[in-house]
Amino acid sequence: MSFPLPPNATIGIVGGGQLGRMSALAAARLGYRCHVLTPEEDSPAAQVSAGVTIGGYEDPDALCAFAAEVDVITFEFENVSAEGLDLLASLKPVRPSPAILRISQDRLAEKSFLNGACVATAPWCRVDSPAALAEAASRLGLPAVLKTTRLGYDGKGQARISTADDLAAFAALAPKPLILEGFVDFAAELSVVVARGADGRLSTFDAVENRHRDHILDLTLAPARVAPGIAAQAQAIARRVADALDLVGLLAVELFVDRDGLVLVNEIAPRPHNSGHWTIDACPASQFELHVRAVAGLPLPPAGRHSDAVMKNLVGPEEMALWPEILAAPGLIPHLYGKAEARPGRKMGHVTRLFPRGALPGWFGVQDALGVLGTKPG
Ligand code: AMP
Repeated sequence: MSFPLPPNATIGIVGGGQLGRMSALAAARLGYRCHVLTPEEDSPAAQVSAGVTIGGYEDPDALCAFAAEVDVITFEFENVSAEGLDLLASLKPVRPSPAILRISQDRLAEKSFLNGACVATAPWCRVDSPAALAEAASRLGLPAVLKTTRLGYDGKGQARISTADDLAAFAALAPKPLILEGFVDFAAELSVVVARGADGRLSTFDAVENRHRDHILDLTLAPARVAPGIAAQAQAIARRVADALDLVGLLAVELFVDRDGLVLVNEIAPRPHNSGHWTIDACPASQFELHVRAVAGLPLPPAGRHSDAVMKNLVGPEEMALWPEILAAPGLIPHLYGKAEARPGRKMGHVTRLFPRGALPGWFGVQDALGVLGTKPG
């Protein structure tokens, strides 16, 4: 089948989580079917898709069966096997390419790539041994952040190193090698989501501001409350990364703004991102629609917003317990992901509140505006 995909074509999504679910919902609105590959029975994405192949990401039989059902393939989380994606790419077009996934899966490859594209990051060193860690710590200074290079998410696979005693963290983190990053005393954490078509055209959402709790994204404020020059710089960096990757698809770029106003990239993810969920309610075309459009070869509309927004994640059983009150609260737009069990730290859904464009309140106003959800410290 050729691009642009005609209506009723099938988009294959590797991964069954909420990002796949919201991509499938956007695809359905554009007249496409989705078929999901996941090892999980009753996954959030499969619940809203036309088909599912239940199987492992490295199982050749499952991969071939999945590829036979679809016209184009994309992925919704990064810890899929790049070798599995290579096999898929030999059967059907994969967007973004497995080469891009490989870069984003490995912090060493990612940082080398970014620095090679003249994109600034925190200073970093590869760490293979306790001795290399001691040397890296003396080069970068303390505090610093020690991270696994692969398979880390939501703060898992990292440790803050504040004193020489903390160097023992080397043994606790796996898999090796590790990376030591200089600690960024950031004024704000931002992210930018950008879509890029096969023709190289870009659509860039506004830079947003992210607040984490227990290493998990808690709130996104759209737009970021930073000077216009900083927001523009963050968007320009995201575009530069998308071009340098020769991306076809969607990319999220997470950034730090340090106390001197320097904008540094923390990490990149070639897929829809939790900090882009606000776009479903506040933009004519959401990050999920742009993801589907880029993958299907459709034109990319501008990534503008008609409203300001605050997005609050619903994490674990405590926040899920507020669901009845959320449904009863005027102005809160609820999204639930269909997960059977609310385990601690698990993202169950999110809530968006819209404000007229230009009227995003300050921090305390945000807490008030979230009503039942804003009563806890963020
Ligand atoms: P990551 O897994 O790299 O996204 O890191 C998770 C969170 O840890 C980030 O959102 C930051 O809040 C914090 N963090 C990560 N790296 C650094 C760093 N080099 N300096 C300061 N904080 C960091």
